[in-house]
Amino acid sequence: MYYVSTRNKTLQYTPAEAIAQGLSREGGLFVPQVIPRLPGSALMMLKDMSYQQRAVYVMGMYLDHFTSFELSRAASAAYGPDKFDTKAVAPVRKVDDTTYCLELWHGPTCAFKDMALQMLPHLLSLSLKKNNEKKTACILVATSGDTGKAALEGFKDVDQTKILVFYPRNGVSEIQQLQMATQEGDNVGVSAVIGNFDDAQTGVKTLFSDEELREELAQRGYFLSSANSINWGRVLPQIVYYISAYCDLLRDEAIQPGEAINICVPTGNFGNILAAFYAKQMGLPVNKLICASNSNNVLTDFIQTGVYDRNRQFYNTVSPSMDILISSNLERLLYLLSEEDDQLVASYMEELNRVGRYQVSDSILQKLQREFAAGYADETATKAAIAAMKQGENYLIDTHTAVAFKVLADYRKETKDETVTVVASTASPFKFGDAVLDALGVRHLWTGTALLDQLAEETGVEAPVPLATLKEKKVRFTSYTDKSEMKTVVNDFLR
Ligand SMILES: *Cc1c(COP(=O)(O)O)cnc(C)c1O
Repeated sequence: MYYVSTRNKTLQYTPAEAIAQGLSREGGLFVPQVIPRLPGSALMMLKDMSYQQRAVYVMGMYLDHFTSFELSRAASAAYGPDKFDTKAVAPVRKVDDTTYCLELWHGPTCAFKDMALQMLPHLLSLSLKKNNEKKTACILVATSGDTGKAALEGFKDVDQTKILVFYPRNGVSEIQQLQMATQEGDNVGVSAVIGNFDDAQTGVKTLFSDEELREELAQRGYFLSSANSINWGRVLPQIVYYISAYCDLLRDEAIQPGEAINICVPTGNFGNILAAFYAKQMGLPVNKLICASNSNNVLTDFIQTGVYDRNRQFYNTVSPSMDILISSNLERLLYLLSEEDDQLVASYMEELNRVGRYQVSDSILQKLQREFAAGYADETATKAAIAAMKQGENYLIDTHTAVAFKVLADYRKETKDETVTVVASTASPFKFGDAVLDALGVRHLWTGTALLDQLAEETGVEAPVPLATLKEKKVRFTSYTDKSEMKTVVNDFLR
Protein backbone atom coordinates (compact mmCIF):
# COMPACT_ATOMS: atom_id res chain seq x y z
CA MET A 1 0.00 0.00 0.00
CA TYR A 2 1.19 3.48 -0.84
CA TYR A 3 0.41 6.93 0.52
CA VAL A 4 -0.32 10.07 -1.49
CA SER A 5 -0.62 13.74 -0.65
CA THR A 6 -4.07 15.36 -0.29
CA ARG A 7 -2.81 18.15 -2.58
CA ASN A 8 -1.05 16.02 -5.18
CA LYS A 9 -2.05 12.41 -5.52
CA THR A 10 0.42 11.62 -8.28
CA LEU A 11 3.31 11.45 -5.78
CA GLN A 12 3.54 8.07 -4.03
CA TYR A 13 5.25 7.27 -0.76
CA THR A 14 5.77 4.11 1.23
CA PRO A 15 4.24 4.06 4.73
CA ALA A 16 7.73 4.45 6.21
CA GLU A 17 8.41 7.50 4.06
CA ALA A 18 5.05 9.07 4.95
CA ILE A 19 5.65 8.57 8.68
CA ALA A 20 9.26 9.76 8.67
CA GLN A 21 8.48 12.82 6.53
CA GLY A 22 5.26 13.79 8.37
CA LEU A 23 4.03 16.41 5.91
CA SER A 24 4.20 16.37 2.10
CA ARG A 25 6.50 18.94 0.51
CA GLU A 26 3.76 21.01 -1.11
CA GLY A 27 1.97 21.24 2.24
CA GLY A 28 -0.55 18.39 1.81
CA LEU A 29 -1.18 15.59 4.29
CA PHE A 30 -0.41 11.95 3.60
CA VAL A 31 -3.39 9.63 3.11
CA PRO A 32 -3.52 5.93 2.18
CA GLN A 33 -4.08 5.50 -1.55
CA VAL A 34 -6.88 3.03 -0.86
CA ILE A 35 -8.64 2.42 2.43
CA PRO A 36 -8.37 -1.27 3.35
CA ARG A 37 -11.67 -3.12 4.03
CA LEU A 38 -12.19 -5.28 7.09
CA PRO A 39 -12.96 -8.82 5.92
CA GLY A 40 -16.46 -10.02 6.89
CA SER A 41 -15.19 -12.25 9.69
CA ALA A 42 -12.74 -9.74 11.16
CA LEU A 43 -14.87 -8.21 13.93
CA MET A 44 -15.98 -11.60 15.26
CA MET A 45 -12.36 -12.69 15.34
CA LEU A 46 -11.03 -9.46 16.88
CA LYS A 47 -13.64 -9.45 19.64
CA ASP A 48 -11.81 -12.24 21.46
CA MET A 49 -8.39 -10.61 21.13
CA SER A 50 -6.45 -8.28 23.41
CA TYR A 51 -6.15 -4.58 22.61
CA GLN A 52 -2.54 -5.11 21.52
CA GLN A 53 -3.55 -7.86 19.09
CA ARG A 54 -6.33 -5.72 17.68
CA ALA A 55 -3.78 -2.92 17.16
CA VAL A 56 -1.40 -5.22 15.29
CA TYR A 57 -4.21 -6.45 13.04
CA VAL A 58 -5.69 -3.05 12.19
CA MET A 59 -2.39 -1.19 11.80
CA GLY A 60 -1.00 -4.04 9.73
CA MET A 61 -3.71 -3.41 7.13
CA TYR A 62 -2.25 0.06 6.55
CA LEU A 63 1.46 -0.76 6.98
CA ASP A 64 2.11 -3.70 4.74
CA HIS A 65 5.85 -2.98 4.65
CA PHE A 66 5.98 -3.66 8.38
CA THR A 67 6.12 -7.24 9.68
CA SER A 68 3.65 -8.45 12.28
CA PHE A 69 6.63 -9.24 14.50
CA GLU A 70 7.65 -5.55 14.37
CA LEU A 71 4.11 -4.37 15.02
CA SER A 72 3.63 -6.84 17.88
CA ARG A 73 6.76 -5.60 19.59
CA ALA A 74 5.63 -2.00 19.11
CA ALA A 75 2.14 -2.74 20.47
CA SER A 76 3.43 -4.47 23.61
CA ALA A 77 5.87 -1.67 24.29
CA ALA A 78 3.30 1.07 23.63
CA TYR A 79 0.29 -0.41 25.43
CA GLY A 80 1.88 -2.60 28.11
CA PRO A 81 0.93 -2.74 31.81
CA ASP A 82 3.83 -0.43 32.69
CA LYS A 83 2.18 2.26 30.53
CA PHE A 84 -1.59 1.76 30.96
CA ASP A 85 -3.37 1.29 34.27
CA THR A 86 -5.90 -1.17 32.83
CA LYS A 87 -5.38 -4.35 30.85
CA ALA A 88 -8.16 -3.27 28.50
CA VAL A 89 -6.03 -0.20 27.52
CA ALA A 90 -9.09 1.62 26.14
CA PRO A 91 -12.02 0.27 28.20
CA VAL A 92 -15.67 0.88 27.33
CA ARG A 93 -17.83 1.87 30.27
CA LYS A 94 -21.59 1.50 30.18
CA VAL A 95 -23.48 4.69 31.05
CA ASP A 96 -26.99 3.48 30.18
CA ASP A 97 -28.56 0.97 27.75
CA THR A 98 -27.79 3.03 24.67
CA THR A 99 -24.77 5.05 25.83
CA TYR A 100 -21.22 3.83 26.28
CA CYS A 101 -18.11 5.78 27.15
CA LEU A 102 -14.78 4.87 25.53
CA GLU A 103 -12.15 5.89 28.08
CA LEU A 104 -9.00 6.94 26.25
CA TRP A 105 -7.08 8.34 29.21
CA HIS A 106 -5.63 5.32 31.01
CA GLY A 107 -2.12 5.98 29.67
CA PRO A 108 0.93 7.60 31.26
CA THR A 109 -0.22 11.23 30.87
CA CYS A 110 -3.96 10.69 31.45
CA ALA A 111 -5.15 12.17 28.13
CA PHE A 112 -6.14 10.52 24.86
CA LYS A 113 -2.99 11.85 23.14
CA ASP A 114 -1.22 8.86 24.76
CA MET A 115 -3.10 6.42 22.51
CA ALA A 116 -1.23 7.78 19.49
CA LEU A 117 1.92 9.19 21.07
CA GLN A 118 2.79 5.90 22.76
CA MET A 119 2.75 4.25 19.32
CA LEU A 120 4.16 6.94 16.99
CA PRO A 121 7.75 6.75 18.32
CA HIS A 122 7.91 3.03 17.55
CA LEU A 123 6.46 3.55 14.09
CA LEU A 124 8.97 6.33 13.48
CA SER A 125 11.93 4.35 14.72
CA LEU A 126 10.93 1.36 12.52
CA SER A 127 10.42 3.72 9.57
CA LEU A 128 13.92 5.15 9.96
CA LYS A 129 15.40 1.65 9.76
CA LYS A 130 13.33 0.83 6.65
CA ASN A 131 14.39 4.07 4.99
CA ASN A 132 18.00 3.26 5.83
CA GLU A 133 18.20 6.55 7.67
CA LYS A 134 21.29 6.58 9.88
CA LYS A 135 20.76 9.95 11.50
CA THR A 136 18.95 10.40 14.80
CA ALA A 137 15.56 12.12 14.69
CA CYS A 138 15.32 15.12 16.99
CA ILE A 139 11.65 15.78 17.70
CA LEU A 140 10.88 19.43 18.39
CA VAL A 141 7.54 20.21 20.03
CA ALA A 142 5.86 23.45 20.99
CA THR A 143 3.07 22.67 23.40
CA SER A 144 0.23 24.39 25.18
CA GLY A 145 0.22 21.53 27.68
CA ASP A 146 -1.09 18.06 26.88
CA THR A 147 0.81 17.20 23.70
CA GLY A 148 4.24 18.02 25.13
CA LYS A 149 3.98 15.65 28.05
CA ALA A 150 2.43 12.87 25.98
CA ALA A 151 5.20 13.23 23.36
CA LEU A 152 7.91 13.18 26.06
CA GLU A 153 6.50 10.00 27.59
CA GLY A 154 6.14 8.39 24.17
CA PHE A 155 9.64 9.17 22.90
CA LYS A 156 11.41 8.59 26.22
CA ASP A 157 14.34 6.19 25.62
CA VAL A 158 13.15 5.19 22.12
CA ASP A 159 15.97 4.18 19.73
CA GLN A 160 17.38 6.73 17.32
CA THR A 161 15.27 9.58 18.67
CA LYS A 162 15.71 12.60 20.94
CA ILE A 163 12.95 14.95 21.98
CA LEU A 164 12.98 18.60 23.04
CA VAL A 165 9.81 20.34 24.23
CA PHE A 166 9.20 24.08 24.52
CA TYR A 167 6.26 25.39 26.55
CA PRO A 168 5.14 28.95 27.38
CA ARG A 169 6.49 29.85 30.81
CA ASN A 170 3.22 31.36 32.02
CA GLY A 171 0.88 29.48 29.71
CA VAL A 172 0.41 26.02 31.24
CA SER A 173 -1.23 24.81 34.44
CA GLU A 174 0.85 23.99 37.53
CA ILE A 175 0.14 20.29 37.08
CA GLN A 176 1.11 20.39 33.41
CA GLN A 177 4.32 22.26 34.23
CA LEU A 178 5.22 19.74 36.91
CA GLN A 179 4.44 16.83 34.58
CA MET A 180 7.02 18.13 32.11
CA ALA A 181 9.63 19.35 34.61
CA THR A 182 9.82 15.88 36.20
CA GLN A 183 10.09 13.98 32.91
CA GLU A 184 12.42 10.97 33.05
CA GLY A 185 14.53 9.49 30.25
CA ASP A 186 18.02 9.95 28.78
CA ASN A 187 16.97 11.42 25.43
CA VAL A 188 14.60 14.15 26.62
CA GLY A 189 14.84 17.91 27.12
CA VAL A 190 12.35 20.53 28.30
CA SER A 191 12.61 24.30 28.22
CA ALA A 192 10.16 27.04 29.12
CA VAL A 193 9.97 30.01 26.75
CA ILE A 194 9.38 33.54 27.98
CA GLY A 195 6.13 34.39 26.21
CA ASN A 196 2.89 32.72 25.22
CA PHE A 197 2.10 29.59 23.19
CA ASP A 198 2.33 31.46 19.88
CA ASP A 199 5.88 32.60 20.76
CA ALA A 200 6.91 29.00 21.44
CA GLN A 201 5.21 27.73 18.29
CA THR A 202 6.59 30.47 16.05
CA GLY A 203 10.03 29.78 17.50
CA VAL A 204 9.80 26.08 16.65
CA LYS A 205 8.55 26.81 13.13
CA THR A 206 11.51 29.14 12.61
CA LEU A 207 13.88 26.38 13.72
CA PHE A 208 12.32 23.96 11.21
CA SER A 209 12.90 26.37 8.33
CA ASP A 210 16.47 27.28 9.39
CA GLU A 211 18.67 25.82 6.60
CA GLU A 212 21.92 26.60 8.40
CA LEU A 213 20.78 24.73 11.52
CA ARG A 214 19.63 21.82 9.36
CA GLU A 215 23.09 21.47 7.79
CA GLU A 216 24.93 21.85 11.07
CA LEU A 217 22.79 19.17 12.69
CA ALA A 218 23.13 16.83 9.71
CA GLN A 219 26.91 16.96 10.14
CA ARG A 220 26.45 15.95 13.75
CA GLY A 221 24.14 13.06 12.77
CA TYR A 222 20.73 14.62 13.49
CA PHE A 223 17.67 15.72 11.59
CA LEU A 224 14.65 17.61 12.90
CA SER A 225 11.26 15.94 12.99
CA SER A 226 7.80 16.65 14.39
CA ALA A 227 5.23 14.76 16.47
CA ASN A 228 2.40 16.96 15.24
CA SER A 229 -1.10 15.50 14.93
CA ILE A 230 -1.03 15.76 11.15
CA ASN A 231 1.44 12.86 10.98
CA TRP A 232 -0.31 9.73 9.66
CA GLY A 233 1.49 7.83 12.42
CA ARG A 234 -0.75 9.64 14.90
CA VAL A 235 -4.05 9.08 13.07
CA LEU A 236 -3.54 5.36 12.48
CA PRO A 237 -3.31 4.20 16.15
CA GLN A 238 -6.56 6.11 16.76
CA ILE A 239 -8.49 4.02 14.23
CA VAL A 240 -7.76 0.98 16.38
CA TYR A 241 -9.73 2.04 19.44
CA TYR A 242 -12.99 2.62 17.57
CA ILE A 243 -12.81 -0.87 16.13
CA SER A 244 -11.80 -2.14 19.56
CA ALA A 245 -14.78 -0.42 21.22
CA TYR A 246 -17.16 -2.02 18.71
CA CYS A 247 -15.59 -5.42 19.43
CA ASP A 248 -16.04 -4.92 23.17
CA LEU A 249 -19.73 -4.15 22.64
CA LEU A 250 -20.06 -7.30 20.51
CA ARG A 251 -18.22 -9.41 23.08
CA ASP A 252 -20.41 -8.11 25.90
CA GLU A 253 -23.54 -8.60 23.76
CA ALA A 254 -24.50 -4.95 24.03
CA ILE A 255 -25.02 -4.99 20.24
CA GLN A 256 -25.76 -7.66 17.63
CA PRO A 257 -23.25 -8.53 14.87
CA GLY A 258 -23.69 -5.99 12.07
CA GLU A 259 -25.64 -3.52 14.23
CA ALA A 260 -24.66 0.07 13.48
CA ILE A 261 -23.60 2.45 16.26
CA ASN A 262 -23.13 6.22 16.48
CA ILE A 263 -19.87 7.74 17.68
CA CYS A 264 -19.68 11.13 19.43
CA VAL A 265 -16.27 12.84 19.71
CA PRO A 266 -15.14 16.05 21.46
CA THR A 267 -13.23 17.67 18.63
CA GLY A 268 -10.45 20.21 18.14
CA ASN A 269 -7.97 19.46 15.40
CA PHE A 270 -10.32 16.83 13.88
CA GLY A 271 -7.79 14.01 14.32
CA ASN A 272 -9.80 11.86 16.71
CA ILE A 273 -13.10 11.97 14.82
CA LEU A 274 -11.30 11.52 11.49
CA ALA A 275 -9.99 8.20 12.80
CA ALA A 276 -13.61 7.16 13.49
CA PHE A 277 -14.48 8.10 9.90
CA TYR A 278 -11.65 5.89 8.61
CA ALA A 279 -12.91 3.04 10.78
CA LYS A 280 -16.33 3.46 9.15
CA GLN A 281 -14.78 3.49 5.66
CA MET A 282 -13.06 0.22 6.53
CA GLY A 283 -16.49 -1.32 7.05
CA LEU A 284 -17.13 -0.79 10.77
CA PRO A 285 -20.93 -0.51 11.15
CA VAL A 286 -21.37 3.17 12.05
CA ASN A 287 -24.32 5.47 11.32
CA LYS A 288 -23.62 9.02 12.46
CA LEU A 289 -20.41 10.58 13.61
CA ILE A 290 -21.33 13.37 16.01
CA CYS A 291 -18.79 16.19 16.09
CA ALA A 292 -18.86 18.04 19.43
CA SER A 293 -17.23 21.47 19.81
CA ASN A 294 -16.92 24.02 22.62
CA SER A 295 -17.56 27.76 22.11
CA ASN A 296 -14.92 27.71 19.37
CA ASN A 297 -17.61 26.21 17.16
CA VAL A 298 -16.11 26.64 13.70
CA LEU A 299 -16.75 22.95 12.93
CA THR A 300 -20.41 23.09 14.00
CA ASP A 301 -20.99 25.90 11.52
CA PHE A 302 -19.01 24.10 8.84
CA ILE A 303 -20.99 20.88 9.12
CA GLN A 304 -24.29 22.78 9.22
CA THR A 305 -23.59 25.19 6.35
CA GLY A 306 -20.59 24.01 4.31
CA VAL A 307 -18.77 27.28 5.06
CA TYR A 308 -15.52 27.04 7.00
CA ASP A 309 -14.73 30.46 8.44
CA ARG A 310 -11.96 31.00 10.93
CA ASN A 311 -12.54 34.77 11.05
CA ARG A 312 -14.27 34.84 14.40
CA GLN A 313 -13.70 35.48 18.06
CA PHE A 314 -11.35 33.05 19.81
CA TYR A 315 -12.42 31.85 23.28
CA ASN A 316 -10.27 30.43 26.07
CA THR A 317 -12.52 27.73 27.51
CA VAL A 318 -12.50 25.11 30.29
CA SER A 319 -11.83 22.53 27.55
CA PRO A 320 -8.56 24.13 26.32
CA SER A 321 -7.44 21.18 24.17
CA MET A 322 -10.34 22.03 21.85
CA ASP A 323 -9.61 25.76 21.64
CA ILE A 324 -8.72 25.61 17.97
CA LEU A 325 -9.91 27.57 14.93
CA ILE A 326 -7.98 25.70 12.25
CA SER A 327 -8.68 21.99 12.33
CA SER A 328 -5.79 20.65 10.26
CA ASN A 329 -7.03 17.10 9.85
CA LEU A 330 -10.21 18.27 8.13
CA GLU A 331 -8.11 18.37 4.98
CA ARG A 332 -8.04 14.57 4.92
CA LEU A 333 -11.83 14.42 5.16
CA LEU A 334 -12.21 16.90 2.29
CA TYR A 335 -9.95 14.72 0.18
CA LEU A 336 -12.13 11.68 0.83
CA LEU A 337 -15.49 13.46 0.45
CA SER A 338 -14.43 15.14 -2.81
CA GLU A 339 -13.60 11.73 -4.26
CA GLU A 340 -9.89 12.42 -4.08
CA ASP A 341 -10.00 15.72 -5.94
CA ASP A 342 -6.54 16.91 -4.90
CA GLN A 343 -6.76 20.13 -6.91
CA LEU A 344 -10.02 21.11 -5.24
CA VAL A 345 -8.58 20.39 -1.78
CA ALA A 346 -5.50 22.45 -2.64
CA SER A 347 -7.73 25.36 -3.70
CA TYR A 348 -9.77 25.24 -0.45
CA MET A 349 -6.58 25.22 1.60
CA GLU A 350 -5.19 28.10 -0.41
CA GLU A 351 -8.37 30.11 0.31
CA LEU A 352 -8.20 29.23 3.98
CA ASN A 353 -4.63 30.46 4.06
CA ARG A 354 -5.35 33.66 2.13
CA VAL A 355 -8.73 34.80 3.48
CA GLY A 356 -9.43 32.37 6.33
CA ARG A 357 -12.59 31.02 4.71
CA TYR A 358 -13.84 28.56 2.08
CA GLN A 359 -17.15 27.04 1.05
CA VAL A 360 -17.37 23.44 -0.12
CA SER A 361 -19.38 22.27 -3.14
CA ASP A 362 -22.98 21.06 -2.74
CA SER A 363 -21.97 17.49 -3.37
CA ILE A 364 -19.37 17.60 -0.58
CA LEU A 365 -21.85 19.26 1.78
CA GLN A 366 -24.43 16.56 1.11
CA LYS A 367 -21.99 13.78 1.91
CA LEU A 368 -20.71 15.67 4.95
CA GLN A 369 -24.21 15.93 6.37
CA ARG A 370 -25.00 12.32 5.60
CA GLU A 371 -21.98 11.18 7.63
CA PHE A 372 -21.80 13.82 10.37
CA ALA A 373 -23.99 15.62 12.86
CA ALA A 374 -22.58 18.56 14.81
CA GLY A 375 -23.23 20.69 17.86
CA TYR A 376 -21.47 22.69 20.54
CA ALA A 377 -21.63 23.31 24.26
CA ASP A 378 -20.82 26.64 25.91
CA GLU A 379 -19.11 26.94 29.30
CA THR A 380 -22.29 26.83 31.37
CA ALA A 381 -23.65 23.80 29.52
CA THR A 382 -20.29 22.01 29.84
CA LYS A 383 -20.20 22.45 33.60
CA ALA A 384 -23.85 21.46 33.93
CA ALA A 385 -23.08 18.24 32.04
CA ILE A 386 -20.30 17.37 34.53
CA ALA A 387 -22.61 17.94 37.49
CA ALA A 388 -25.48 15.99 35.88
CA MET A 389 -23.29 13.01 35.07
CA LYS A 390 -21.91 12.91 38.61
CA GLN A 391 -25.35 13.18 40.16
CA GLY A 392 -27.24 10.96 37.73
CA GLU A 393 -24.74 8.19 37.02
CA ASN A 394 -22.12 8.74 39.73
CA TYR A 395 -19.61 9.06 36.91
CA LEU A 396 -16.89 11.72 36.99
CA ILE A 397 -16.01 13.14 33.56
CA ASP A 398 -13.65 15.88 32.44
CA THR A 399 -14.57 19.09 30.63
CA HIS A 400 -13.84 17.82 27.10
CA THR A 401 -15.88 14.67 27.59
CA ALA A 402 -18.67 16.80 29.08
CA VAL A 403 -18.87 18.79 25.84
CA ALA A 404 -19.49 15.53 23.98
CA PHE A 405 -22.21 14.33 26.37
CA LYS A 406 -24.03 17.64 26.15
CA VAL A 407 -23.93 17.65 22.34
CA LEU A 408 -25.13 14.04 22.26
CA ALA A 409 -28.08 14.92 24.52
CA ASP A 410 -29.03 17.81 22.20
CA TYR A 411 -28.70 15.58 19.14
CA ARG A 412 -30.96 12.93 20.64
CA LYS A 413 -33.56 15.47 21.67
CA GLU A 414 -33.67 16.88 18.17
CA THR A 415 -33.53 13.67 16.12
CA LYS A 416 -35.05 11.05 18.44
CA ASP A 417 -32.21 8.82 17.21
CA GLU A 418 -31.87 6.01 19.79
CA THR A 419 -28.92 4.23 18.14
CA VAL A 420 -26.38 2.82 20.60
CA THR A 421 -23.73 5.53 20.88
CA VAL A 422 -20.08 5.44 21.92
CA VAL A 423 -18.80 8.70 23.40
CA ALA A 424 -15.03 9.23 23.26
CA SER A 425 -13.75 10.32 26.68
CA THR A 426 -10.51 12.17 26.08
CA ALA A 427 -9.02 13.09 29.47
CA SER A 428 -9.02 12.12 33.12
CA PRO A 429 -11.12 14.61 35.13
CA PHE A 430 -8.06 15.06 37.36
CA LYS A 431 -6.21 16.78 34.53
CA PHE A 432 -8.76 19.58 34.61
CA GLY A 433 -9.52 19.38 38.33
CA ASP A 434 -10.17 23.08 38.91
CA ALA A 435 -12.94 23.33 36.31
CA VAL A 436 -14.40 19.99 37.39
CA LEU A 437 -14.53 21.06 41.07
CA ASP A 438 -16.08 24.34 40.03
CA ALA A 439 -18.72 22.44 38.05
CA LEU A 440 -19.48 20.37 41.15
CA GLY A 441 -20.12 23.58 43.06
CA VAL A 442 -16.90 23.62 45.14
CA ARG A 443 -15.84 27.21 45.72
CA HIS A 444 -12.53 27.34 47.62
CA LEU A 445 -10.02 25.55 45.44
CA TRP A 446 -6.65 24.31 46.67
CA THR A 447 -3.62 24.84 44.46
CA GLY A 448 -0.97 22.73 42.71
CA THR A 449 -1.02 19.01 43.40
CA ALA A 450 -3.31 19.57 46.40
CA LEU A 451 -6.09 20.08 43.85
CA LEU A 452 -5.82 16.36 43.03
CA ASP A 453 -6.40 15.49 46.71
CA GLN A 454 -9.30 17.91 46.87
CA LEU A 455 -11.05 16.38 43.87
CA ALA A 456 -10.44 12.88 45.26
CA GLU A 457 -11.86 13.84 48.66
CA GLU A 458 -14.82 15.61 47.16
CA THR A 459 -15.82 12.74 44.84
CA GLY A 460 -14.42 9.56 46.37
CA VAL A 461 -12.63 8.84 43.08
CA GLU A 462 -8.90 8.15 43.25
CA ALA A 463 -6.48 10.26 41.23
CA PRO A 464 -4.60 8.31 38.53
CA VAL A 465 -1.17 7.15 39.71
CA PRO A 466 0.88 9.22 37.20
CA LEU A 467 -0.71 12.40 38.59
CA ALA A 468 -0.89 11.32 42.25
CA THR A 469 2.84 10.53 42.31
CA LEU A 470 3.90 13.83 40.74
CA LYS A 471 4.71 15.41 44.07
CA GLU A 472 7.29 12.69 44.81
CA LYS A 473 9.07 13.08 41.48
CA LYS A 474 12.40 14.86 41.16
CA VAL A 475 12.27 18.13 39.24
CA ARG A 476 14.85 17.85 36.44
CA PHE A 477 14.09 20.77 34.15
CA THR A 478 13.90 24.33 35.41
CA SER A 479 15.57 26.35 32.67
CA TYR A 480 13.82 28.92 30.56
CA THR A 481 14.86 30.84 27.51
CA ASP A 482 14.13 33.97 25.57
CA LYS A 483 12.40 33.10 22.30
CA SER A 484 15.35 34.54 20.38
CA GLU A 485 17.64 31.97 22.03
CA MET A 486 15.75 28.77 21.17
CA LYS A 487 18.36 27.81 18.58
CA THR A 488 21.05 27.83 21.26
CA VAL A 489 18.90 25.53 23.38
CA VAL A 490 18.64 23.07 20.47
CA ASN A 491 22.38 23.23 19.84
CA ASP A 492 23.20 22.64 23.50
CA PHE A 493 20.69 19.80 23.71
CA LEU A 494 22.31 18.02 20.75
CA ARG A 495 25.95 18.41 21.89
C1 LIG B 1 -6.37 16.95 21.79
C2 LIG B 1 -7.60 16.78 22.61
C3 LIG B 1 -8.90 16.85 22.05
C4 LIG B 1 -9.15 17.16 20.59
O1 LIG B 1 -8.78 16.10 19.74
P1 LIG B 1 -8.56 16.35 18.17
O2 LIG B 1 -7.98 15.11 17.63
O3 LIG B 1 -7.59 17.51 18.10
O4 LIG B 1 -9.88 16.70 17.59
C5 LIG B 1 -9.98 16.64 22.89
N1 LIG B 1 -9.82 16.41 24.21
C6 LIG B 1 -8.60 16.35 24.78
C7 LIG B 1 -8.50 16.11 26.25
C8 LIG B 1 -7.44 16.53 24.00
O5 LIG B 1 -6.23 16.48 24.61
